[in-house]
Amino acid sequence: MEIDVLELSDRSAKFILSNTTAAFANGLRRAMLADVPTLAIDDVNVYNNTSVLYDEQLALRLGLIPLVTSFDDFVPQDECTCEDGCPACVISLTLSVEATADEGRMVYSGDIVSSDPKVQPAEMNIPIIELKVNQKVVLEGVAHMGYGRDHAKWQAGVACGYKNLPIITIDGCDRCGACVNVCPRNILCLGDKFVEVSDESRLNCSLCGLCQDACEIDAISVTENESSFIFTMESDGSYTVNELIINAVNTIKRKASSMGDILSTL
Ligand code: SF4
Ligand code: SF4
Ligand SMILES: [Zn+2]
Repeated sequence: MEIDVLELSDRSAKFILSNTTAAFANGLRRAMLADVPTLAIDDVNVYNNTSVLYDEQLALRLGLIPLVTSFDDFVPQDECTCEDGCPACVISLTLSVEATADEGRMVYSGDIVSSDPKVQPAEMNIPIIELKVNQKVVLEGVAHMGYGRDHAKWQAGVACGYKNLPIITIDGCDRCGACVNVCPRNILCLGDKFVEVSDESRLNCSLCGLCQDACEIDAISVTENESSFIFTMESDGSYTVNELIINAVNTIKRKASSMGDILSTL
């Protein structure tokens, strides 16, 4: 298997995965969405809430705020060796905001105060609730690590998807231009002798096949490489995309190894 990184930042990545199977590509996608545990607020103790939001709605919004997570420092509570919660599986965060008598204010994720400096909201400007004059919210959020397969609040990977690498072949073109005009992604252009497509713009092909349909002499064909995939993914900020990919691959390795152990006992 080979990986060609096309774009990489802390929050997003685009890469080509080659010489592998659709099953593995999909396994990686699913692992990034469902099997890499993250921290999220799971229990909320509301001490005062005079805002217009129900406590339950407020708790849901708090749960969906991504928290920066250290994969090595925390464990899901049901996998922890403690019995009643410990700093490795339970993190307390507080939110105490009151609007003044003169002016309302928006409560943002940046108003959350964490008991552990390593655990902070991934973004400080996520709006939670707008307080009108004299309204307040005072609460404690208890964060646990959990899995995206149980609830979206624990899903670190977002917009993870892939498509087969497109193969565009041109043979016998008479430069009529029909395919150029119908391509919705404008990736074909008329060269001196025949229609052309660059390697870079080929990656944007959606495999829609409109160019093939428009060509009356079957000079262009679009197929997909069955063993190469263009992957795009984003992280919600709990991890960098590097950490997310590494954790996802390690999860697959652990699962494959435990499956091997089980099979070896049969
Ligand atoms: S398959 Fe669709 S997107 Fe790809 S080159 Fe043809 S018309 Fe354009
Ligand atoms: S439609 Fe066919 S013949 Fe016309 S430019 Fe495209 S590939 Fe060439
Ligand atoms: Zn614990």
